[in-house]
Amino acid sequence: MSSHSPSRTVAVIGGGIVGSAILYTLAHRGVDAVLLESESALGLGASGTNSGVLHTGFDSTPGQLETELVLRAARIRPAILDALGVPVIHAGAELVPHSAEDEETVRALAANAAENGVEVRIRPSDGALLVPGESVSDPVAFTQALAASAVAAGATVELDARVAAISAIDDGLDIAIADGRRFTVTAAINAAGLYADEVARLVGDESFEIYPRKGEFFVFELPDGQTLEHIILPVPTKRTKGVLVFPTLDGKAVAGPTAVDLEDKEDWSVRPEAKDEILAKAVQQFPALEGLEPIASYAGLRPAGRGSNYVIGRSDKNDRLINVAAIRSTGLTASLGIADYVAEILREIGVSVDDDLRPPTVAVATQQDGPWWQRTAKHRNATTA
Ligand SMILES: Cc1cc2nc3c(=O)[nH]c(=O)nc-3n(C[C@H](O)[C@H](O)[C@H](O)COP(=O)(O)OP(=O)(O)OC[C@H]3O[C@@H](n4cnc5c(N)ncnc54)[C@H](O)[C@@H]3O)c2cc1C
Repeated sequence: MSSHSPSRTVAVIGGGIVGSAILYTLAHRGVDAVLLESESALGLGASGTNSGVLHTGFDSTPGQLETELVLRAARIRPAILDALGVPVIHAGAELVPHSAEDEETVRALAANAAENGVEVRIRPSDGALLVPGESVSDPVAFTQALAASAVAAGATVELDARVAAISAIDDGLDIAIADGRRFTVTAAINAAGLYADEVARLVGDESFEIYPRKGEFFVFELPDGQTLEHIILPVPTKRTKGVLVFPTLDGKAVAGPTAVDLEDKEDWSVRPEAKDEILAKAVQQFPALEGLEPIASYAGLRPAGRGSNYVIGRSDKNDRLINVAAIRSTGLTASLGIADYVAEILREIGVSVDDDLRPPTVAVATQQDGPWWQRTAKHRNATTA
């Protein structure tokens, strides 16, 4: 034990959408916070390679923590996206049934949506489930804007800062970065995505394990100025949520993702067979894709918990470390709800967190080199079509 006094109140480990939303929330609720990100930029993990869909929670299982935080985020997020100038396509989603079994699933989904308080309608002409609140955003701009706004409100972001050791001190934690930098804090949030299990191990916490579940996507330019007006979701089966087709802010249509369980946390490649797997399903949903060659592809790695999901809480081994792990499939959507929940946990540790989230004082322009969906794939040298 040493007698350092904390130099910062809270360290957030990991600068994906979850860590950035937590940093935003803390900075706008009066907490002195620093974000430590191992890469040279934010949002290069799952947060930069997803579907960009802001889900309503219409199909989420009532009562689960994930559902609660998806719904909580929906109450907080719109005003923040608006104030930060993060682009959103309010496209709505459609699920068209193709069999009697699908029709039954649509009815069950409508009942589920009602239980979660989410607006849906059934289109009389074809029995499609319409979900007007589903939207698509730019997940990289969202991540960057949250962090930039936090910095404008007094937080700090440290890049190229891989957390390599965490030790207990009298009144907090001493965090060592791989290059020798040190931070002493009252509490730390482990939002390290795929590596959250390794960060937990730094305090001896072996209570959960994260593995990568790969999702591959193909990007299409639609001919003759055609555009995709809605998010097209398949009617889910018991086994899978399936392949969706969604519009991007730059006017493309993207089909995906797959769901391939891996061991290698650095395998960002697109498998050669993925194209046929995706297209077979996507063309059924959206026949305009028939015969088109994709202009690009990318893969994302979901930080999946082995036998667990939404592992959020104080570590058993050091209760000043709050794990926010296994945020596998809905982190973009739920991030601000997760951050609000984490603020409650910080209060249990004695960190003073203001009741109200102050509105951001500045809209922050984010800088991007090309469309977001190319960025992580390029960074990871993934194969592109
Ligand atoms: C194929 C796919 C489709 C998806 N579609 C959607 C969707 O449509 N809507 C939706 O809401 N969600 C979607 N998701 C889920 C969403 O992308 C994730 O839930 C979310 O990105 C998880 O964010 P995160 O911040 O926890 O993890 P990450 O984005 O992985 O961020 C973790 C960060 O921690 C950093 N890090 C790791 N180790 C350390 C360390 N030791 N020190 C410091 N930093 C460290 C990493 O570099 C990384 O930047 C999808 C995911 C995938 C992969």
